Amino acid sequence: MKHAHVRIPASLQAAIEDESRRTGRSVDAIVTEALSRHFEAELHTVFQVSTSGALVAGVYEREASVETILAHGDFGLGTFTGLDGEMIVLEGRAFHADANGVVTEAPRDAGAPFAIVTRFQPERETTITGISGFQDLGRHCDPLRDSGNIFYAIRLDGRFGRIKARSVNPPPPGTRLLDATRTQNEFTFTDIDGTLVGLWSPEFSGPFGVAGYHFHFISDDRRLGGHLLDVEAESLRLRIEPLTHFHLALPETEAYLKAQIGGDTARELAAAEQGR
Ligand SMILES: [Zn+2]
Repeated sequence: MKHAHVRIPASLQAAIEDESRRTGRSVDAIVTEALSRHFEAELHTVFQVSTSGALVAGVYEREASVETILAHGDFGLGTFTGLDGEMIVLEGRAFHADANGVVTEAPRDAGAPFAIVTRFQPERETTITGISGFQDLGRHCDPLRDSGNIFYAIRLDGRFGRIKARSVNPPPPGTRLLDATRTQNEFTFTDIDGTLVGLWSPEFSGPFGVAGYHFHFISDDRRLGGHLLDVEAESLRLRIEPLTHFHLALPETEAYLKAQIGGDTARELAAAEQGR
């Protein structure tokens, strides 16, 4: 057991002592239980800003700041206000990949219409070899998932023989995502050291998330990156974490509240994400 010496408001101290007198439990036990309850809620939790359905419908306004997103996770992906490029969140920093795949660190006050992050605490680790494409990468990851009904965070590190990625260009306001991605820029990096930041989401999440695998790439030197379309690698270190809690932060902007979100957004999203 560790000793923690913390300053707390007198009112909180009184409440703890009250509870201790009332229940006969020690202050240690009450504080430990309260803290573990608090952290359980944040462990293995997906934090998502807005829904993919809203994105598909063309709601690209600022719904959360990078600062808010980083308060809820250190690992994940998203996009920026106006659909201006791809977001990569890695090791507690948020990066912006522009239309040419050039990466810079995003300022804390930058806005995002959509993001999905977690506090990455991998539970399994392995090495995968001979990755020959996007679908093949999925086949390598599949056996490490015990269930199709929860979410997973997946991190892959190593040298990539080829990365084909895209980044979105800001479209005119109101453009649906599928039309916006028609003007996306695609680019290829070869023999590059880097990381794939990935999330796997269950089929049922389609109307509000991105079902299946979704990866964003960032190079080790943090200079290049984008939304992954295709990949080749000889050997990659893979770390994976099952995610069993979901925190969906719905926007309160007028654009979101008034948007017509419905229909088969999952199919439109799949087409926009992978050209499927
Ligand atoms: Zn993406």
